[in-house]
Amino acid sequence: MLENVRIVLVGTSLPRNIGSAARAMKTMGLSRLYLAAPRAEIDGESVALAAGASDILRDVVITDDLAAAIADCALVIGTSARSRTHDWPQLDARQAGIKLADEGRQGPVALVFGRENHGLNNEELQLCHYHVSIPANPQYSSLNLAQAVQLISYETRMAYLSQATTEAEHATIEYPTAAQQEGFYQHLERVLYHTGFLKADQPNQIMTKLRRLFSRARPESAELNILRGVLKAIERSDNSNRDH
Ligand code: SAH
Repeated sequence: MLENVRIVLVGTSLPRNIGSAARAMKTMGLSRLYLAAPRAEIDGESVALAAGASDILRDVVITDDLAAAIADCALVIGTSARSRTHDWPQLDARQAGIKLADEGRQGPVALVFGRENHGLNNEELQLCHYHVSIPANPQYSSLNLAQAVQLISYETRMAYLSQATTEAEHATIEYPTAAQQEGFYQHLERVLYHTGFLKADQPNQIMTKLRRLFSRARPESAELNILRGVLKAIERSDNSNRDH
């Protein structure tokens, strides 16, 4: 999924920023770098600042303009140092990370960064579905280009990691069906009557509270089997006591 998250740098003029952006990307697991109408070439300084991420520079895609760099993307998020006055859907950095991680599962998505001196122009901003600005110090909100790449790539990675954990949990945990859960409640109720803990003439408040407790705990199938085992053991010991 992270291979689908593309970083597009528009009109970048400093080779070192291209290298640092590549490094920022690779540390967060991103690999697809596009340069739209760059005003600098990848040079020795870019490679030096990319450090272990020079493979990203080697595979870079250069396009004439932003439109060409995002043509096949279903989601495009543009960054800006100021939240613009014009009314365009805005995301905060965290929401941007979540959207990129989510929609990156279907196909290519793009995160677009502007020129060092004046960001993205209005026409470019309007090619984006959403705008995001990192909530920086209002008196000085302009981050270095590669550092802005780092932060939103980090948010994307965090969103991706939490999706992966949720999926892994869902894959391994088996929960009882409603019928199995109900079977447990009936069994519990029988045993509680039998032991004298519940009395037939009492309003059944206690069972409701116990149901609420088990709903909150949401036992897994294996845990419910243990509870059924406990109930059976109580029944058995009760029978054997009576035998004596
Ligand atoms: N003076 C320019 C600053 C450009 S900084 C402007 O006002 O737009 C270069 C690029 O870094 C920006 O185009 C954006 O892509 C990114 N960037 C810098 N600060 C940012 C911030 N606070 N939030 C989001 N992106 C930021």
